[in-house]
Amino acid sequence: MRILIIEDEAPLREQVVTQLREQGYAVDAAADGRTGLYLGQEYPLDAAIVDLGLPDLPGIEVIRRWRSAGRKFPILILTARGRWQDKVEGLEAGADDYLVKPFHTEELLARLRALIRRTGGWTQAVLACGPIALDTGSQQVTLTGQQVELTAYEYKLLEYLMLRAGMVISKTELTEHLYQEDEDRDSNVLEVLVGRLRRKLDPDRTLNPIETLRGRGYRIRLERSVT
Ligand code: CA
Repeated sequence: MRILIIEDEAPLREQVVTQLREQGYAVDAAADGRTGLYLGQEYPLDAAIVDLGLPDLPGIEVIRRWRSAGRKFPILILTARGRWQDKVEGLEAGADDYLVKPFHTEELLARLRALIRRTGGWTQAVLACGPIALDTGSQQVTLTGQQVELTAYEYKLLEYLMLRAGMVISKTELTEHLYQEDEDRDSNVLEVLVGRLRRKLDPDRTLNPIETLRGRGYRIRLERSVT
């Protein structure tokens, strides 16, 4: 998942960036409204965190411009304590949720996860497709109730595909949403990763949970068992 944070308070921004990266997100950061606006227009984001009080361009204006340009990713706004009007204005401008400063990182992470899974049509923290269940909170995966040990990248790949279960996801999209700019983004790396994930999820080769559509990408073909 690729997340953008726009926040001018450097210590807070850096703290959130670090914590998001620890959770396996690819993170882009901006310290002012104009830079943030540009990144949100150019990058394939899964969500954005926007502080409303920003230099150059207010957060509200950034959100308005993204929405009028048709950018649909979920947006979480950060507001100052006691400024209820900011929340209303932010939500009306196109934000999906808000957090009042100061906040606990756990709450920020939980709200982000909820926003991201709703964009995939899921309402609960556990995504289940056939015998595979993925808990977005604990980041645990089970296969018919048995825990499957996944690396951080295998987990990120499976989560991205399961959130969009039934849809065909291109290799380019996966690469853009899973990796930081400075990481190895060769498509062979992705193919090897998919191969390893398949072997772990389908040791007997009977399930074929991740379908390859030649020249188009990958798809989870198992039915969603809950939403
Ligand atoms: Ca600020």
